[in-house]
Amino acid sequence: MNHGFETLAIHAGQEPDPHTGAVVPPIYAVSTYKQDGVGGLRSGYEYSRSANPTRTALEEALAAVEGGVRGLAFASGLAAEDTLIRTVCRPGDHVLIPDDAYGGTYRLFAKVLERWGLAYEPVPMGDLDAVRAAVRDTTKVIWVETPTNPLLTVADIAALAGIAHEAGALLVVDNTFASPYLQQPLALGADVVVHSTTKYIGGHSDVVGGALIVRSTELGERLAYHQNAMGAVAGPFDAWLVLRGLKTLAVRMERHCDNAERVVEMLRAHPRVTQVLYPGLPGHPGHEVAAKQMRRFGGMVSFRVAGGEEEAVEICGRTRLFTLGESLGGVESLIEHPGRMTHASAAGSPLEVPSDLIRLSVGIETIDDLLADLAQALG
Ligand SMILES: *Cc1c(COP(=O)(O)O)cnc(C)c1O
Repeated sequence: MNHGFETLAIHAGQEPDPHTGAVVPPIYAVSTYKQDGVGGLRSGYEYSRSANPTRTALEEALAAVEGGVRGLAFASGLAAEDTLIRTVCRPGDHVLIPDDAYGGTYRLFAKVLERWGLAYEPVPMGDLDAVRAAVRDTTKVIWVETPTNPLLTVADIAALAGIAHEAGALLVVDNTFASPYLQQPLALGADVVVHSTTKYIGGHSDVVGGALIVRSTELGERLAYHQNAMGAVAGPFDAWLVLRGLKTLAVRMERHCDNAERVVEMLRAHPRVTQVLYPGLPGHPGHEVAAKQMRRFGGMVSFRVAGGEEEAVEICGRTRLFTLGESLGGVESLIEHPGRMTHASAAGSPLEVPSDLIRLSVGIETIDDLLADLAQALG
């Protein structure tokens, strides 16, 4: 389909049901399928670990909105990551990861995959010379997040794709923070896009899910084989919720960006705030790259406060509309202290975050209400 983003999000993989005309793909709560004679499968469905029609609808829609040839839906973002790495790597291989990777991604490499025999190395992905210098003969994957969590650093996807391909490695981009509406890594040269669909794509804080999207049919086949062989698939109800979220992604992202820009403006003028981290700010070190590869700059904002860790923790406890909680990307605004919450497991590692840092997931509530809440919490 040669359609725009919003049209694809609403229609790709989602033809009305041929039997009933149901406009939305039904939740196929089913494990097995009647065969018309031995091996006579209807539309290829055999067993729901291998494929389920609700999941297929989501997978086709995800492939379409990322401009890939194949999408695969998993039980969580980390399940998608694990399946990907154990499909494309083997013990003895080496992987470069961002030095401020999502905490769970870091933990997967450091605590699970390293024991399985995979070497990993945290690298500042914004520094292309450092990335080139870290590549080894055994490097199979360069793993990138942009913007990162929670420091919102930016990496140049096209340049990193060049480095990866020269080395015979794959470029994997975790596109969770930007969402496919704001950034399309496959078009910039990436080989695989990873999502925690729990976040912006699901968009309503009501489901945990993950996805992989690829632009090579051959890699898509291998991943589908492993998705079935390893079994961490998205269930039909979860797939349905993520698909419903995807339909409104474009309008939600526009409002997330509008609100985040207003929050950034307010924080920058506030005397208790020492630094605002947002790729949309011209002074942000990744601003030019972000402007080149992103449609807008997203709904995540981090900032540091004058009173250090103590004040940061107090502010997180004082907001009324911004809910204190982990995760991000839902319609409701969230606030958190990464040092003690999402990134507590990175303490003492190269991925430790500043203790005076607060992270906001700016939701789509009325902006004046959000600004008033932050103002009272900051004092
Ligand atoms: C949440 C998140 C993940 C992990 O996804 P889950 O759905 O929680 O397993 C991976 N990457 C990023 C950037 C995330 O924010």
